[in-house]
Amino acid sequence: MSKTTTFVTQPSLPPLEEFIPYLEKIWENKVLTNCGPFHQQLEEALCNYLGVEHIALFTNGTIALVTALQSLRVTGEVITTPYSFVATSHSLLWNGIKPVFVDIEPDTLNIDPQKIEAAITPQTTAILAVHCYGHPCNVDAIQKIADTYNLKVIYDAAHAFGVKCHCGSVLNHGDLSVLSFHATKVFNTFEGGAIICPDAESKARIDQLKNFGHAGEIDVVAPGINGKLSEFNAALGLLQLEYIDEAIAKRKAIDETYRRRLSAVTGIQCLQDSGELVANYAYFPILVDDSYFLSRDALYDHLKTQGIHPRRYFYPLISEFPMYRGLPSSNPERLPLALNAASQVLCLPIYPDLSLDIVETICRLIAGVR
Ligand SMILES: *Cc1c(COP(=O)(O)O)cnc(C)c1O
Repeated sequence: MSKTTTFVTQPSLPPLEEFIPYLEKIWENKVLTNCGPFHQQLEEALCNYLGVEHIALFTNGTIALVTALQSLRVTGEVITTPYSFVATSHSLLWNGIKPVFVDIEPDTLNIDPQKIEAAITPQTTAILAVHCYGHPCNVDAIQKIADTYNLKVIYDAAHAFGVKCHCGSVLNHGDLSVLSFHATKVFNTFEGGAIICPDAESKARIDQLKNFGHAGEIDVVAPGINGKLSEFNAALGLLQLEYIDEAIAKRKAIDETYRRRLSAVTGIQCLQDSGELVANYAYFPILVDDSYFLSRDALYDHLKTQGIHPRRYFYPLISEFPMYRGLPSSNPERLPLALNAASQVLCLPIYPDLSLDIVETICRLIAGVR
């Protein structure tokens, strides 16, 4: 048997021939960017699909995060989670904001609302939370704290495309939510991102900020950036959207297979959802504890020798990287649960085209039947 390599993810692509008519249209129009027709169509289509009122498309999720903070004029200190992809905190540094890390909940691995209050200082202006693996944060508890202390709430919802909680789209919580359409995400436009805005005014300001601060042909009202999504990426998004339900259904079948096969393996814990009504199965994280017969890293290495490449998302913690390590809130003693999760987690391969046979093989390898 020839050995294939299975990575943690593989981007979904629509049939190439179906993309050609979109390209022909672009060549015909000669509109390549600057919020052209495909850009507008994708914003409308995404509002419909996601169940949100206003969306502003971006060139990627990181620029969207940086701009979201700018648009709310967030300054000083922001309370955030160390258990995320590094872009979450980098967006604060790019705004000259000091990240203040607080620990996570052991079951969801999301920021623990009960730890937020103690981290608030007179400099605190916002909370930047992450719906980690697409599992919603405790949005009600976070909003209550924000209301009490007059703080903004921004959700890094890079993992949460299409996720719905008790009151509809999880993206409608907080002041702003940010999506990523990077190649590795559930919905991709090669590169791309978006900000979910609560009203037309906030979208208008964000649209100015992503276009150099232009408010008209000769008016510049803010030191904006270039964060626009191109027509190429927007057109691809429109086509990807036609396949998204099928893609999520395939992810769900993989998720179910892993859960069925791994539930009885001693020392392997499959992360549960956090009560979402509609999930997106973006990741399949397991926690490898001391009662498993190998260490997490030994399992990781073993799977790699067998051509299976899981990823240790999220290890190391953001607070362990050199540009964050010196912060008082990065003290490991204050982040025991995040450190524990980072030392145990392994994200197993999950993507629409992953065959259930390979999933079964991965489960057998983990169960130790070789
Ligand atoms: C992918 C990701 C980002 C960055 O998005 P890009 O589109 O790659 O810039 C930010 N935060 C989290 C949690 C992510 O997973």
